[in-house]
Order: sequence, then C-alpha cells, then structure tokens
Amino acid sequence: MRVLITGGAGFLGSHLSDRLLSEGNEVICMDNLFTGAKRNIGHLLGHPNFEFIRHDVTDPFKFEVDRIYNLACPASPVHYQYNAIKTVKTSVMGAINCLGLAKRVSARVFQASTSEVYGDPDVHPQPESYWGSVNPIGIRSCYDEGKRCAETLFFDYYRQNRVDIRVARIFNTYGPRMSPEDGRVVSNFIVQALKGEDITIYGDGMQTRSFCYFSDLIDGFVRLMEQEETVGPVNIGNPVEFTMLELAENVIKLTGSKSKIIHEALPSDDPKQRKPDITLARKHLGWEPKVPLAEGLKETIAYFRTYLEGEK
Ligand code: NAD
Ligand code: UDP
Repeated sequence: MRVLITGGAGFLGSHLSDRLLSEGNEVICMDNLFTGAKRNIGHLLGHPNFEFIRHDVTDPFKFEVDRIYNLACPASPVHYQYNAIKTVKTSVMGAINCLGLAKRVSARVFQASTSEVYGDPDVHPQPESYWGSVNPIGIRSCYDEGKRCAETLFFDYYRQNRVDIRVARIFNTYGPRMSPEDGRVVSNFIVQALKGEDITIYGDGMQTRSFCYFSDLIDGFVRLMEQEETVGPVNIGNPVEFTMLELAENVIKLTGSKSKIIHEALPSDDPKQRKPDITLARKHLGWEPKVPLAEGLKETIAYFRTYLEGEK
C-alpha cells in the first residue's frame, strides 16, 4: 500500500515509517520539522519506498494514497504551548486537510488522538465512553481542545461523507528518538540523570501516568488501522500506573545516577491521574502492551547515553 504519514519525522512517525516499510509498503513522510528531525529518518532517506516531503499540514496537499496516518502535532506541553494558536490550527486544519484528501482518493485515515481528550479525569481508569473534564480556556487547551475538535471532524466526515476513519487515543508513550529537548517527563528525567543534573519533579510527584513503550504502541496503531470491527475511538496505552516520584526513582536506579530529586511548581491544569481502560483494544485489536516500564526505560536510557556521548 501507499501510505502518507503526517508528522512522519517525529518520535512516533519515524518508528511507524520503519514498521510500514519493513512490511513492504511505500511511505510518504510529510513533516514541517517543528519538533521532528531529519536524524530520525536519516537511515530511511535512500530507501526506494521512502520519500520525505517538507510541508506544513495546515496547507493543503494532494497524494494518491491508500492510507493516511495523521500524526502531525507537537505533543510535548513545552512545544505545543510555544505557539498555542498554531497548535490549534495544526490539529483542526490538519484534520480537515487529511479528511478532505481521504474523501477525494477514498483512503482510510487514522487520527493520532490523545488521552488529553479526558482532561483532568474524574473517572479512573478512563474508558472511551468517558467524555472528559477539559478546561476550554487554559494553557493546555490549545492541544486538548484542538485534538477534541479533530475527533469531532473525523466523526462528522464519517457520518456525513462516509470517510473510512480510525481514531486512536494514545496514552503517554516513550522510547528512543524522543528529542533530548522534548520536555516530556521520561526524556527529561533520563537526560537529567545521565548529565548528573537535578531531576525536576513538578509538584509533589504524586500525580500518575501510565507509560507505553513505542513498539507496543506502533503495533496497536497498525492493528487498529487494518481491522474492520471498529472505527474507534480506541485507547492505546499501557495500563500500569506510576507516580512521577516512582518514575524518577526508577530512572535514578537504572542509570546509576547521583542526581538529586528537586521539586518545581506544578503547571496549571496538570492532570492528577491517568490510566487507560484497554478493554476495547483487547477485544477488537487483540492487543495489549508487552514491554514493562523497566525494560523500556533501559532501552531508552541506552539510546540517550549514545546520543549524549555523540554531542561531547
Ligand atoms: P513529536 O513532536 O515527536 O512528533 C510530531 C511531529 O509532527 C513532528 O515531527 C513535528 O515536526 C510534526 N509537526 C508538528 N506540527 C506540524 C505541522 N503543522 N505540519 C507538519 N508537521 C508538523 O511527537 P510524537 O510523540 O511523535 O507524537 C505524534 C502524534 O501522536 C502527535 O499527534 C501527538 O499529539 C500524538 N500523541 C503522542 C503521545 C505520546 O505520548 N508520544 C500521546 C498522545 C498523543
Ligand atoms: N513532569 C515532571 N517533570 C518534568 C516534566 C514533566 O514532573 O521535567 C510531570 C508533569 O507535570 C506531568 C507528568 O510529569 O504531571 C507528565 O508530563 P508530560 O509533559 O510528560 O506529559 P503530559 O502531562 O502531557 O501527560
């Protein structure tokens, strides 16, 4: 199949490119390189079935493709808040452009949605039927509401134009190829530990997240895209929950670092707890994550160690 991946030079997009190429597909990787990087796809640039196109998803585009994975959007709070208006445009106009193309060429189109649609949840763990608790005017709203509007557009194109959609709600995912400057918690803690810097916990560290290793997530993406039972939304994430304090302690242990834990101010609207209910993914995709946090952290630490050595 010929597959378009928007945001294909990012952390997840580059791993998805690897997976789809390994199965004999052609991949068009479209990215404006805002948070993505050519180094993530450098090893693919000479591949006969791979093409990189530098393009912004908010500007219209046309390709003859069978599948579209829409991943273009900064995912780290630091980066999505850098230009909040642009983040909304990326989610909303990006979705419209992907859906318009899918309609025109009869492609199946996949949306990388997020657990952020649940906001700071008062239902725990979060099933897909939960509508969420989202502040519409806060500093995270550009991302949360942008992604919620994108889901609305996906379901309206599905109902109104019979566009063939798939919607995944991704929970915190980590692994090699995250940028050291990404700003999300796993990469921050590992880079701080490897550099011997203080480990910055925001707030008291009792807030929770459930961390999924990238290989499990990518497998969930492809299973959702290629099955016929549901269009989604389907939660894809690892239901094992950790506090940020536990994560920091794990990182210190696995790196053997002498870094100290310090506490900084908790950003506003930071969700207190997050854990996916993956009943639907188990049922429709036959999917569940396999890689425990300690194992995924070891691989990710090895990646950052090599990366930081190269910078010296
Ligand atoms: P990332 O920042 O590494 O990747 C996003 C990619 O999109 C980057 O390559 C970036 O340059 C590109 N991009 C951003 N704005 C663009 C634009 N206007 N036009 C074209 N390209 C643009 O982050 P990631 O973790 O790989 O996330 C990929 C997708 O998955 C995002 O849509 C994100 O919202 C979603 N997601 C990720 C997680 C996670 O934990 N990794 C969780 C929930 C949702
Ligand atoms: N966090 C932290 N220290 C950091 C970066 C993040 O304690 O250096 C916290 C953050 O406040 C949040 C959790 O870790 O409670 C996850 O943050 P991240 O930005 O990775 O993702 P999100 O909040 O979008 O789930």
